[in-house]
Amino acid sequence: MLEGVPSFAVSDVCLKCDGCCRFYEKDSCWRPRCGEVEIKAIGAERIDGRSYIKADESDGKHLCVCLEKDEHYCAIYTSRPFECQVYPCVLMKRGEKVMVSIHLSCPMVVEYRHSQKFADYEKQLREFFSKPDVKNFVKQNKHLAGDYPGYQEEFEDLFEVNI
Ligand code: SF4
Ligand code: SF4
Repeated sequence: MLEGVPSFAVSDVCLKCDGCCRFYEKDSCWRPRCGEVEIKAIGAERIDGRSYIKADESDGKHLCVCLEKDEHYCAIYTSRPFECQVYPCVLMKRGEKVMVSIHLSCPMVVEYRHSQKFADYEKQLREFFSKPDVKNFVKQNKHLAGDYPGYQEEFEDLFEVNI
């Protein structure tokens, strides 16, 4: 797990939201993909050549196996995959470039996008993604960058990861 990932968590907003950790399709583009070291640490499921965090089907949804659904928390929070750590940001594939993009549909982003809190968060993100170990992680795990077909209008690119 990379150290010092900036967090935009506002727990009261997340606790009222079921936007994360549940996926309608087994190969949903929202289901967190796993980096190579994460596959060994937490296990993963291979679908069409990609590694996703494991999920079980329940009530028509695929729930991440790490979600404590009654208490609404992540059982592996301190070692959750990189994709989970950076959300509501994602790594976005733009041709050969990898961008850091913000998901405008996340209720936290809707509420805070134009706040000083978000400006501070973006500053921390830029510093984080300029670190050599983080750039190296992204370079070795370029498959984590998605193209999110059908959802492109829900993203705003923030900056490019120079790898
Ligand atoms: S979609 Fe946003 S507000 Fe909802 S649980 Fe995920 S991070 Fe929290
Ligand atoms: S690992 Fe944790 S944060 Fe990531 S999808 Fe599963 S329950 Fe959610």
